[in-house]
Amino acid sequence: MGIVYKTKMEWCFYNDGTKIVKKYVDNIEKEEYDYIYKRKLTCIHGCEAKVKFTQKKNKKKFFSTWNKDGKKHNENCEYHVQYTDELGRKKLKAIAEHIQVNDEQIEAALKRKIKNLKKEFRGEINESDNLGSKVIINTGESDVKVGNDDADGNGDKVSKRENITSIDASLINSTYENRRKCVYGRIDNVQYSHSESSELYGYLNLVNDYYKVSVYFPTSYYEGNEFKKEELEKTLEILKTDIEKNNKKTIVTCYGEIKSKKGKKNDYNIHVINPKHILINEMSMNKILTKGELEVLDYDII
Ligand SMILES: [Zn+2]
Repeated sequence: MGIVYKTKMEWCFYNDGTKIVKKYVDNIEKEEYDYIYKRKLTCIHGCEAKVKFTQKKNKKKFFSTWNKDGKKHNENCEYHVQYTDELGRKKLKAIAEHIQVNDEQIEAALKRKIKNLKKEFRGEINESDNLGSKVIINTGESDVKVGNDDADGNGDKVSKRENITSIDASLINSTYENRRKCVYGRIDNVQYSHSESSELYGYLNLVNDYYKVSVYFPTSYYEGNEFKKEELEKTLEILKTDIEKNNKKTIVTCYGEIKSKKGKKNDYNIHVINPKHILINEMSMNKILTKGELEVLDYDII
């Protein structure tokens, strides 16, 4: 499993002195950058790293990390500077291979994310916490030793913690492709259909002004089980009615790999492969099916 770090960004934070706002790259002009934004842009994931804006002669715009600030991104930030030394590579490999998250940890991470979003909304988290989009679960296990076969016997250690990082669905773009993340956002509409071979295609289309981003339920979600497939379809119908007809407000938190849709460059699907990997308005899909409707949200957190 290769870890590729992108250098170009589409989103960043702008601190105007009183509050921090999200900025999309196409909504900044070169002149504005020089007079307003310069030195006031930082990483969207709350890292210390400063961000700069570039507009090429062909008008193409992008954000990137300020020179030498690459290491100021959090270690699991998509924009963290790539390790170049041997030990660094081993460290990354260890993180990727030895740290696997299980379903219970994912479920706990989704619940914690909602809790944190609520706290943040009520202003109970100070600014520096507020910026971090990380959800960290401690497995309770001791440090894992990296590179036992280190020739120099260096034995560098990395903490064996599960790091499930999260991203607001409205900020998803190609940077997050092929990454497993906790994604949170609002559902705009629900879509489902059957293929000729009666495969169910179910999507929760999320709010994103620039790309099409959807929660997708692959076959593994219902394990090819006809009964479970029917249950999923019924649940999608409940959601469709509640969201599109009853205009119920929703917050979805889910976990899965973000993949671009085949042949469609700017369409992204979050592959939710297990019922434990999704909560809508803090309800499991099974609870929604049993109750026949979504709980009404009495808060607004995104
Ligand atoms: Zn960062």
